[in-house]
Amino acid sequence: VNFELSEELAALQESVRRLARDKVKPRAREIDETGEYPDDLFDAFAAAGLLGLCIPEEYGGSGAGILGLTVAIEEVAKYSNTAALMLLLTRLPTGPVMIAGSEEQKKRYLPGIAEGASRAAFGLSEPGAGSDVVGMRTRATPDPGREGGWVLNGLKCWMSGVAQADWYTVFAKTGDPVSRRHDAITAFIVDRSADGVSVGSLDRKMGVRGVDTGELVLEDVRVGAENVIGEVGGFRLAMLGLNSMRPIVAARGIGLAEGALMYATEYVQGREAFGGTIADFQGIQWEIAKMAVEIEAARLLTYRAACLADAGKFTREHVPYLSMAKYHATEVAVKASGLALQLLGAAGYMKDHPTELWYRDARQLTIVEGTSQVQLGLIARGVLDHDLWWD
Ligand SMILES: Cc1cc2nc3c(=O)[nH]c(=O)nc-3n(C[C@H](O)[C@H](O)[C@H](O)COP(=O)(O)OP(=O)(O)OC[C@H]3O[C@@H](n4cnc5c(N)ncnc54)[C@H](O)[C@@H]3O)c2cc1C
Repeated sequence: VNFELSEELAALQESVRRLARDKVKPRAREIDETGEYPDDLFDAFAAAGLLGLCIPEEYGGSGAGILGLTVAIEEVAKYSNTAALMLLLTRLPTGPVMIAGSEEQKKRYLPGIAEGASRAAFGLSEPGAGSDVVGMRTRATPDPGREGGWVLNGLKCWMSGVAQADWYTVFAKTGDPVSRRHDAITAFIVDRSADGVSVGSLDRKMGVRGVDTGELVLEDVRVGAENVIGEVGGFRLAMLGLNSMRPIVAARGIGLAEGALMYATEYVQGREAFGGTIADFQGIQWEIAKMAVEIEAARLLTYRAACLADAGKFTREHVPYLSMAKYHATEVAVKASGLALQLLGAAGYMKDHPTELWYRDARQLTIVEGTSQVQLGLIARGVLDHDLWWD
């Protein structure tokens, strides 16, 4: 067991820490208030090579892997979960392509993401199918006019980055539309420029503003066989992609929790009351201590999950460890942001401090990419099946 980051990853952590302090921190409040996509941060991430962290070198990335992206997101999320989401979106839609895509797909779609020339988004959820993804209604039927081609119709929703994306990884029913069998669902790459593709309504969100979330409308969208990711009926790919994403979402949680606890700690150390400072009270110190323990536990779970994912261990037997990281880190983010707000008192409730922003942003994390309840279900299944067993 080695708990140290490699030299390369420690250097990455240091450089992203600086970039986050210099460029992300001063912009966080403004991004929240305007809700405008921060092109300046995207450009800064591109210039620093952060958009290609999880993309292999042969496709234009730096090959720092999921652990590399996790470490970078943790730093950025200390100040802005919107900025952290921008980095996350370099992996969520590209994951299925990297796991099961053809060589041609990898060459065509990955270098653009790594260099910042293109953006992508991930379409799994639908208005009637969130946690219950197999209930999706989007359909892909064989294209009578094109050998091996497909025609897609349907509506995806709550898609992060939908308005900025140049292409989408979209899941659709290729088998019986009412079937609950996994082999009835297939992953496709859909170009934004394809006929019949449009962005529908955009959501009015309580947090993580600045990266739009909204609908993708697919009306008679014709794609070729070359747009199928992996096999027809390869829905397992969605699960593998999401399993491998758990540490990356978790990183958004631990970064937010660290930022919130550090901010609140410095505040109580400077807040004079009762002839001393608020930090002098043992009741306050114990809250800080308990949160520090939770953050470090979440970090360990997250880094282990990232190492597992980098080793290709994101199949069923590893699911409990991956889900634990996502579950714990995102729940810790909610708790830490709540504690930070409370420790600042009235000041924490006001927009003069970032605590209320962290509080709103954190709530997203326990919902996306598998809610906390869904993660608990996956962890429980692992124990019940003895995939997670201590004997
Ligand atoms: C800001 C934001 C961004 C998002 N970005 C994307 C994106 O980029 N791409 C995408 O495809 N989706 C995205 N989503 C959608 C997200 O993945 C879904 O919201 C999530 O999967 C939950 O689905 P749901 O909202 O329909 O909740 P539901 O599935 O309706 O669940 C409602 C409640 O019931 C609980 N529940 C559901 N099933 C169970 C169960 N089996 N056991 C116990 N409790 C259960 C849930 O935990 C939840 O508390 C985004 C959502 C948000 C809020």
